[in-house]
Amino acid sequence: MTTHRRPLENVLDTVGETPLMRVQASPDGVDVYAKLESFNPGASVKDRIGTYMLEQMLERGEVAEGGTIIEPTAGNTGIGFALAAKQLGLDAVFVVPERFSVEKQTLMRALDADVVNTPTEAGMGGAVNRAHELAEEFDDAVVPQQFANPLNVEAHYELTAPEIYDALDGEVGAVVAGCGTAGTLMGLTEYALEQDSDTYITAVEPEGSFYARTKGADVDESEYKIEGIGTHDLTTNQLFHPELVDTIEQVSDRDAHDELKRLAREEGHLVASSAGAASVAAQRVARRIADGDIDAPHDTVVTVFPDSSERYLSKGIYGSYEEWEG
Ligand code: PMP
Repeated sequence: MTTHRRPLENVLDTVGETPLMRVQASPDGVDVYAKLESFNPGASVKDRIGTYMLEQMLERGEVAEGGTIIEPTAGNTGIGFALAAKQLGLDAVFVVPERFSVEKQTLMRALDADVVNTPTEAGMGGAVNRAHELAEEFDDAVVPQQFANPLNVEAHYELTAPEIYDALDGEVGAVVAGCGTAGTLMGLTEYALEQDSDTYITAVEPEGSFYARTKGADVDESEYKIEGIGTHDLTTNQLFHPELVDTIEQVSDRDAHDELKRLAREEGHLVASSAGAASVAAQRVARRIADGDIDAPHDTVVTVFPDSSERYLSKGIYGSYEEWEG
């Protein structure tokens, strides 16, 4: 458990240093560890990029105090950026496709940000375009653009990865992470491959998403309920480097949903669908290491549980599979 022995000055001081927890369902002989990112102040992994990216952009003069950031986001990034923006003297506007959870949009507004919705059919690409249009209407606005900004990857390279390696004394055999922007996976991957070029790297996405196409898989487009990972428009996802990734695991909505419910029931983790998918994929990789099908440098698999299920209760996340709206 993270302990803060001295009083902290600012909520941003509580970003990061999240627990790394062994998943009890790990197969014999191979341990799966999950970084519990709901322990961040805005309750998701995106508090890391909110703080890191805005601090760096201010330092580099890409935005000045009193300016505005405008960002397309599924929600968690909005919360992370809103938290950081307020503390760093910036205003925030978020462009959110309608299908994303109402709790996230309520939290962004509570953190003093403005929210603009775009049609679900226009996808994340539609939100990106609208954010750039809006930025034209302000004198001093900047679009951090988490889908294309290398600072997103750098945040995880500088913060998330060293925390994991410290916790495991460097003994990481495989990295498994869901890909939305792919910032988390790519930051962990760059760091991991520097430590040991044999570290086995796995990207996770929902069935029906297109990342697998980058490895030549013949993927039919379909909608999915898992929230926060996957893409239907690879031109948006400019951070993903398939050549660094050994495999792409596609997880069905049903498997992710079964697993997030199991994680709550059996292990006490109140995590959402992208964590369910990550956990399923991490256990697949762990089983292959245990069976000798993957030659990883250590018998450990690390994954990330990006956020909390509380953010999706209105979507029936703990209901039956049919009740869950995703
Ligand atoms: N899970 C959730 C719930 C998210 O909001 C996100 C960010 N879209 C991710 C996973 C994926 O993180 P990344 O953007 O770093 O790939």
